Amino acid sequence: MSMNQQGRPTGVKRSVTNSFEGASLLPLEPLLFEIGATDHTGVDLPDVELSSARLGAFTRQSPLDLPGLSEPEAMRHYVRLSRLNYSIDAGLYPLGSCTMKHNPRLNEKMARLPGFADVHPLQPISTVQGAIGVISELAEWLMVLTNTSAVAMSPKAGAHGELCGMMAIHAAHIANGEGHRTIVLVPESAHGTNPATAAFLGYKVKPIPAKADGTVDISAVEEALSSDVAAIMLTNPNTCGLFEPDVKKIADAVHKAGAYFYCDGANFNAIMGIARPGDLGIDAMHINLHKTFSTPHGGGGPGAGPVVLSKALAPFAPVPFVRQNSGKLELAEHAQGSKSLGRLTAFHGQMGMFTRALTYMLSHGGDGLAQAANDAVLNANYLKARLGAVFSMPFGEQHCMHEVLCDDDFLEGTGVTTLDFAKAMIDEGYHPMTMYFPLVVHGAMLIEPTESESLKALDAFAHTMLELAAAAKAGDTDRFTSAPHKAPMRRLDETGAARNPKLKWEKSR
Ligand SMILES: *Cc1c(COP(=O)(O)O)cnc(C)c1O
Repeated sequence: MSMNQQGRPTGVKRSVTNSFEGASLLPLEPLLFEIGATDHTGVDLPDVELSSARLGAFTRQSPLDLPGLSEPEAMRHYVRLSRLNYSIDAGLYPLGSCTMKHNPRLNEKMARLPGFADVHPLQPISTVQGAIGVISELAEWLMVLTNTSAVAMSPKAGAHGELCGMMAIHAAHIANGEGHRTIVLVPESAHGTNPATAAFLGYKVKPIPAKADGTVDISAVEEALSSDVAAIMLTNPNTCGLFEPDVKKIADAVHKAGAYFYCDGANFNAIMGIARPGDLGIDAMHINLHKTFSTPHGGGGPGAGPVVLSKALAPFAPVPFVRQNSGKLELAEHAQGSKSLGRLTAFHGQMGMFTRALTYMLSHGGDGLAQAANDAVLNANYLKARLGAVFSMPFGEQHCMHEVLCDDDFLEGTGVTTLDFAKAMIDEGYHPMTMYFPLVVHGAMLIEPTESESLKALDAFAHTMLELAAAAKAGDTDRFTSAPHKAPMRRLDETGAARNPKLKWEKSR
């Protein structure tokens, strides 16, 4: 059957050839709409008499114009697209703060078990006891690892977890008659999601400066605290890759002022199994399962950002949560009659990610998780030592935690910027490190190798980085300023793409 048998015009025929740019062997992949002609489909279906009787005015008037592709054509399209994407399965991915660690295949195997993969959130609770057991067991271990009293499992990303934790703080203040507190303190090195979360909830954000050593200035915190402050949002280890030495004192000062301590737990990978945030005085902290607990990030699968809560905030946790009822597990679904802040998501969170994260935990054990954290810190310090003689490191006198922060001082006078350097790394086969974050250092380069990388991989990476730095200093500027040379796409108009995104294919007529 061809679509036009139903009276539709055939699709616009254009010859789309693969275009090669630079020296890449990877062809740019056209859109499905450009490679698939609308006048045929990939499958043979018998002709049907379409009846418009029951659709009335809703009967489609214009052709559907879906691209017709055979199964191998569709397959190749998606495989080619995937080859344009850098991934942790393809190479070292030093994107600081993002903890791009290996996603163990055992996790994938467990998540694909039909009892987990095929459950539906509206199934009768008696038929999903195993799946709810996984949520409950993961929740339990997250509380053990953090020494906290409750955990909200439904948030779907770190930023969503921040929202959940800050909503719990907001609800607690209202319940305590402290609803007048309107200020949230946020250190200058914070991830952008922290001030965004506070502002989204209507709080005024008050920045807290960092000391010369990259850690939060406790005297600035004490000075900023008042009866108007609702919370502090502090990242620990912080985004300069440093453990906050005054964290306990800061927590005490915050509590004394009647405020709560939100901890951004995105960097938990550096301390899991070693330090418990609950012991450091936190009231709420999100945990990015897609960072610390090895589940795939964004494009590779949905994220998950469970939030652990202190005893003070536990009553305000959102629904649903798992509870025991005469030997059976059930979900508490309704907030009525409790202090719960209500419901954040339609269902119970990211089941596939829960299964993967619990698999990671159980396959490591408590000692294995601590070992992973130690190895992550060791790997970062190894890179710090290998790069330290050439790369400028603003807080370089101290050991770092799981990531190394460089600034662009070492590029001074070369005509090469942090952005150029990152683009040149693409030509060497690496995903760039995090750039221009945190904002507290100029031209930041934040490198996080994670514990997944072997000594050999770290040495190869260090070798490349040192070779690039030497080339920049030797005046080989073009290698940087016009990089990437070997990627299928060169420099893109990122601002234009963000300001004026083209999200829909328009048929050219
Ligand atoms: C990744 C990250 C976040 C946000 O987490 P998402 O899961 O990406 O929403 C917040 N803070 C820090 C420090 C992070 O690294």
